[in-house]
Amino acid sequence: MSSSDNKTYAVNILGAGVSGLSTGLALLEKGNYSVKIIATHLPSDLHIDYTSPWAGAHWRSFADIADLEQQELEEATYKRFEHLAETEPKAGIMFLTGHDYWDVKPKNFEEPWFSRFLKNYRHIPKEELPSGVDFGTTYTTVSINTPKYLRYLQDQILARGGIIEHGTVQSLRALAQVPHSDKHPKADIIVNCSGLGSRNLQGVNDHQMFPTRGQILIVKVPDEIWPKAKQFTMERYAEGSAFGVGTVTYVIPRDNGEIILGGTTDHWDYQEAPSEKTAKAIMQRVQDCRPDLFSKATVLRNCVGLRPNRRGGVRVSATAEQLDWNEGWNPSVLVVAHNYGHAGFGYQASIGCANKTAKCIERSLKNLQTLRDEARTMAKL
Ligand SMILES: Cc1cc2nc3c(=O)[nH]c(=O)nc-3n(C[C@H](O)[C@H](O)[C@H](O)COP(=O)(O)OP(=O)(O)OC[C@H]3O[C@@H](n4cnc5c(N)ncnc54)[C@H](O)[C@@H]3O)c2cc1C
Repeated sequence: MSSSDNKTYAVNILGAGVSGLSTGLALLEKGNYSVKIIATHLPSDLHIDYTSPWAGAHWRSFADIADLEQQELEEATYKRFEHLAETEPKAGIMFLTGHDYWDVKPKNFEEPWFSRFLKNYRHIPKEELPSGVDFGTTYTTVSINTPKYLRYLQDQILARGGIIEHGTVQSLRALAQVPHSDKHPKADIIVNCSGLGSRNLQGVNDHQMFPTRGQILIVKVPDEIWPKAKQFTMERYAEGSAFGVGTVTYVIPRDNGEIILGGTTDHWDYQEAPSEKTAKAIMQRVQDCRPDLFSKATVLRNCVGLRPNRRGGVRVSATAEQLDWNEGWNPSVLVVAHNYGHAGFGYQASIGCANKTAKCIERSLKNLQTLRDEARTMAKL
């Protein structure tokens, strides 16, 4: 059995963040999956348990030079984002110039892996660096207006006949038991894209998951500054800092005139309320770096999001399984897939991870019928 056998497979997906929506869309684009997404929080919601609307976000890979798998996921995503930036204003993705600044040039600096394919990658001449910056690189990248992009994904899914509904489940079994649709009452496949929720979801209970709190400010600059500010995204590393370590300051403009200023990375911190002191410190660092752009910035909102971090990295997998023998052979024999634990790269790896999940599902479908036949035989004994 494979997804090319003309059967339509019913898929229940848990989660409507960037991971669940991208996975739903990847499956619908294949043409032989019926998709239903069930989630406590949907793209119009804002809640601390729903990370996706809080992200900056820009594409700036932190994949290690040796981590070819992560690079592949992020390169595939960049290519789709590049296409959307060129063709689809509703997606909220725009091109801009990325700047990486180091207050002290890292010893044994290696060119990042993405220097081979991002356009216009180069070192910034010393005289063009802001005061206090020792070394910098620049390249063309994209920013993502995250609430707008989530709505775009949602619209794409609905336009292809997918179903998206509010709902909370406590376990993988409960996800399997959610009626799929009138045409396909029972799910053949369930996909867990519950982000940090995977820690407490029964049947998963992944204790490798932990929150990495991020605080950001959403600001506006005066109209006359915006044409210049919108071309510029930045990551600045204080001495001794790196991705996820020490003080990193970032600036990410969005296509609607808002600019995200960050940030913080506090592991195991669930604190929902933004800290005033932190907000002031972020603003000060950004203004010190680019007073020409941000000295007259006005704060619209202070926000906090919890990155769904995972020791050991992202989990993307699928297996044909029997979820609960006591419930009988069907619908508890199904494909169980996962796509969660994206930490601070959930957008920039989203398309790659969604496609990989779809591939894992296709492979597992080969075992589904065999397992169902075996379970049916056992049930008769
Ligand atoms: C400040 C900040 C800046 C960031 N910047 C970037 C960036 O520049 N680039 C980048 O790529 N990434 C960035 N990220 C990371 C990115 O936001 C996350 O990796 C991504 O949003 C995770 O998406 P997700 O869909 O896996 O999880 P979520 O968005 O948290 O979605 C989880 C979904 O599962 C649902 N759910 C959970 N449990 C249950 C349950 N039991 N029943 C029903 N529904 C359930 C929730 O309601 C929700 O719909 C940033 C994050 C933060 C906080």
